[in-house]
Amino acid sequence: MIDPLTSLDAARFGVYVHFPYCLSKCPYCDFASIVARQIPEARYAEAIARELELRIAAVPSLAGRAVESVYFGGGTPSLWDPTHVRRVLDLLRARLWIVPDAEVTLEANPGAADAERFAGYRAAGINRLSIGVQSFQPATLAFLGRSHDGAMAERAYAAARAAGFDNVSLDFIYGVPGQTLDQVREDAVRATGLGADHLSAYALTLDRESLAEEVPLARRLARGEVTLPPDEEVLQMQRTVRDVYRAAGLLRYEISNYARPGRHSRHNAAYWTGGEYLALGTGATGFILEPEGTGGVRYANHRSAERYLVQVEQDSLPVASVETLTARELFSERVAMGLRLSTGIDLQATCRAFGEDYAPRAKVVEALVTGGLAVQDGPRLLLTDRGADVHSAISARLM
Ligand code: SF4
Repeated sequence: MIDPLTSLDAARFGVYVHFPYCLSKCPYCDFASIVARQIPEARYAEAIARELELRIAAVPSLAGRAVESVYFGGGTPSLWDPTHVRRVLDLLRARLWIVPDAEVTLEANPGAADAERFAGYRAAGINRLSIGVQSFQPATLAFLGRSHDGAMAERAYAAARAAGFDNVSLDFIYGVPGQTLDQVREDAVRATGLGADHLSAYALTLDRESLAEEVPLARRLARGEVTLPPDEEVLQMQRTVRDVYRAAGLLRYEISNYARPGRHSRHNAAYWTGGEYLALGTGATGFILEPEGTGGVRYANHRSAERYLVQVEQDSLPVASVETLTARELFSERVAMGLRLSTGIDLQATCRAFGEDYAPRAKVVEALVTGGLAVQDGPRLLLTDRGADVHSAISARLM
């Protein structure tokens, strides 16, 4: 069974700030990111300030709302000088209400990290760092186009601790062409040896349908120039990571995320449990529930940094798309996301909340439990490890 938690403390409302600039463009990356010789750090902070005002003008109820998490993602936000990060946090504090124990995360790249900079973030109000290690293996890092090496990643981790961060997460990738199971195991062992509070490990995705844009590695894959490890091998890698992390005392609280007790990501938990999030910055995606009813609105900003800047500077919302999600669509998301979590989902209550009929799903639940793919813990349905391996198929059957 994936490690049970009695509850998952998720932020109900968070703010995501996207910083799109990077030192180089990795060939597998489909995040809204861009390489800039001269990063317009002050101009970008000013744009975030303007967008915040525009968002509040469009939805006045946002003003003063309690914010339980703030997340600076990218891109490479650790290229943003701490003075600008502080300015953005001060703006958020002035216009919203960041609760005293809010989780405030910044993503850092090992190639753009040092103790002094980290201390600046700490002083600005960041209380959690998420470092994109991806791997310690030279071949894997080279294939992924990453400019750091394993020693730099370890130094970045040490710098985070030296700067006073008591909540540090490390991110890893497996299922990379050429990567072996032993290398994945070595990465996992080295990661746990560092003693991070939180580890995430995702399989490399180059599936064109799930990418926001075409990336060089996906093109090479389509041309047959590279091949991904077979699915069974990727699954074996996932199980290996799981076993190593668990043996180190980390809880698998989400299919791809592991944490020491109480150190799960409250921000990401908001995404997984239907929480709301205001998103600011290039390519950022936000979600706000409708004031009444069970639907919600998801919006996405322009993915071009320049277009984003120009639009905001003209006092216009930088929106690329707005999607109104129906109760049915939100129900499907809640089922799929809820089943990724070790707290599982109260399916009957979720059906009631979204006006769905539980009866036809009861038989599916029974079959899952009988087949050892799920367990029923009181009202909550939780996937076992075997169930987690086929999460997508199970979600589809319950939607
Ligand atoms: S550092 Fe991250 S955001 Fe930047 S190009 Fe590489 S994968 Fe993309």
